[in-house]
Amino acid sequence: MSVTVVGSIAFDAVTTPFGERSRMLGGAATHFALAASFYDTVDVVGCVGDDFTDADMALLGTRGTRLDDVERVAGSRTFTWRGEYGWDLNSRETLSTELNVFAAFDPSLSDRSRSADVLFLANIQPQLQLRVLELCERPRLVALDSMNLWIETERDALLEVIERVDCVLLNDAELRQLTERPSLLAAAGELLSWGPDVVIAKQGEYGAALITADGFFALPAYPLESVIDPTGAGDTFAGGFVGYVGRHLDEPMGNEMLRCAVAHGTALASFNVEEFGVERVIRLGAEEIEERVTELSRITQFEHAPIGLMS
Ligand code: AMP
Repeated sequence: MSVTVVGSIAFDAVTTPFGERSRMLGGAATHFALAASFYDTVDVVGCVGDDFTDADMALLGTRGTRLDDVERVAGSRTFTWRGEYGWDLNSRETLSTELNVFAAFDPSLSDRSRSADVLFLANIQPQLQLRVLELCERPRLVALDSMNLWIETERDALLEVIERVDCVLLNDAELRQLTERPSLLAAAGELLSWGPDVVIAKQGEYGAALITADGFFALPAYPLESVIDPTGAGDTFAGGFVGYVGRHLDEPMGNEMLRCAVAHGTALASFNVEEFGVERVIRLGAEEIEERVTELSRITQFEHAPIGLMS
């Protein structure tokens, strides 16, 4: 098995109440790959400018991620995102987005990337997601993430690609905006009727919900005393979730397995937010993930015996 991801590879400039970074490695594909590489071999499809140094490339390739399909374009600059968080780390202000090299990116995939079993269309222009989907031979699982910018500016292309994927991961607000349904369940139901089998609603510090035709499951975020920078938490969640599902492709996609996948995504995301950008996840060990998933299982379980309520 292997996983191919297409999405942004970025320089992020981020300010939170706890500090700032002016040029840190980020991007949806970057955060996804670092997390998913705990589950499988990952190929990244994307592009960077000639301001992307060998050291940046080495950081992206931490944990053995394959970078043959990352094109370095001379005379171009790397995708750049600037964002700022206030005390409510659940919401952020995007100060600027510069597509730069991604504006003209025409992906060509190696045979290995094309033949992956799992394809993750991380957040980037939907037209680009569609092109990569068309280049892939027959992935057994295709998952997609997107954001408000593309819902507003590229809605038709986004709908076209959503119809062709198995799993959609969006945050609550994006789900409502996309489907124009105010209730989370109704919004997820509408999305399921467009084609996908699985919807994940990301809810920041409140966790994530899983909605399928016959199941609902919600898990809180792993409780942390200190959150430093939530940038990339959604993509890191996706890496854990999709990576885990990818490891179980030979069995039917049941709700029990999907619940465990949510727990893995949740555990990975909780490490991501403990430090800026990829700083924590690049030092992460597999056993730390297992421990946190076990702890999540312990703190979310309860037994219920009816006590005979007064009528
Ligand atoms: P998340 O916090 O999981 O939503 O992911 C944040 C990452 O997405 C950052 O590292 C950004 O570089 C990247 N990003 C922000 N805006 C965009 C965009 N319009 N298209 C693609 N990637 C983006």
